[in-house]
Amino acid sequence: MAQKITGLIHHPYVPPAGFEAPQPGVFKASTVFFPTVAAMRSREWKDKSAYTYGLHGTPTTYALEERLCTLEGGLQCLLAPSGLAAVALASLAMLKTGDEVLIPDNAYSPNKTLAEGELKAWGISHRYYDPLNPADLESKFSAKTRLVWVEAAGSVTLEFPDLPALVRLCKQRGVPVVLDNTWGAGLAFAPFDLLPDSEPGLGVDISVHALTKYPSGGGDVLMGSVITRDPGLHLRIKLCHMRLGLGVGANDAEAVLRSLPSMALRYNAHDAATRTLAAWCQGRSEVVQVLHPALPDSPGHAHWQALCKPEPGGAAGIFSIILAPHYSQAQTDAFCDALRLFKLGYSWGGPTSLVVPYELASMRSGGWPAHLKPGTLVRFSVGLEHVADLQADLAQALTALA
Ligand SMILES: *Cc1c(COP(=O)(O)O)cnc(C)c1O
Repeated sequence: MAQKITGLIHHPYVPPAGFEAPQPGVFKASTVFFPTVAAMRSREWKDKSAYTYGLHGTPTTYALEERLCTLEGGLQCLLAPSGLAAVALASLAMLKTGDEVLIPDNAYSPNKTLAEGELKAWGISHRYYDPLNPADLESKFSAKTRLVWVEAAGSVTLEFPDLPALVRLCKQRGVPVVLDNTWGAGLAFAPFDLLPDSEPGLGVDISVHALTKYPSGGGDVLMGSVITRDPGLHLRIKLCHMRLGLGVGANDAEAVLRSLPSMALRYNAHDAATRTLAAWCQGRSEVVQVLHPALPDSPGHAHWQALCKPEPGGAAGIFSIILAPHYSQAQTDAFCDALRLFKLGYSWGGPTSLVVPYELASMRSGGWPAHLKPGTLVRFSVGLEHVADLQADLAQALTALA
């Protein structure tokens, strides 16, 4: 009996090598074994040459990191337990007391909240800039500026900035620039090579991606990545990653690995359906403005056109509408409640269409943005349902407005 119990733990069987299948294996570990003390002392955890501890990487996380580098055109990748953790990791690794970070006013809101909370408490100041006006970014640089965030398209209102112009301003000053690339996802444009024909090599220094969205595609995984093309920058972020103890579960990494092969097809499908619905909403009298970068009158459309693929695959799967100002917030909420296929819920990139009525004025430093028509704002995330059914759902819910 004693032998049997120990044998279940120290078992001599080793399966034959050479197993190959469509998906890479799932390796789960906190502890990783070393053959000798010498190997334990000398084994390197900072590059992917060996294994030391589950938190520092397994074959599963290394495989996912390398595929994400391929997706985004980067060379090094770190995984974080959520998109927001990846955002926080980039800021924490790059900033220290006395520094200042510049953030677009339409950034993913929790990025701003982090700046207003922990960063401020640690003596790191922030300023918000208008992403549609590079001169405004230029005017906000100071001797303290150590990091600039960019986002394309912006959160909720989907303004598309002149990303190359913003990046150029940062390069001229030698200030690292970090992109929240969740919307583009590595498919709509290349973050590290924005203008490969006219200005090769112009790109961001760091790309942060909420893998929770399109790479997962299931609405069932939280994960984020921080991708770079510079070994020194990567090491700086990796040391912070290690000190903070950030890691991801093997089953979650597996879920993303399994979803990556279908990601481009899903992105195209979300994109095509979203364009159909956004154009349909433009024809509705209840709607005063539709925000979607591929629409000619959406803010920053020309910048989107210059940077992104015009065909499906270049505009993601979210759009917002502004309902006419004579509708109250209560009527707008009733419209959202009346939707049946669009579920009330945050996030995007999964199979289920989602809707959120945002109180936009409270999310922007100057209240309701002057470049948008007044009204109430509703954001849609378009899932993978049939587009005709989604359109019918919008049509029936709009009758709830009256
Ligand atoms: C969702 C999202 C995040 C955060 O991702 P989580 O995994 O939900 O923490 C960050 N940035 C953008 C633009 C997002 O849409």
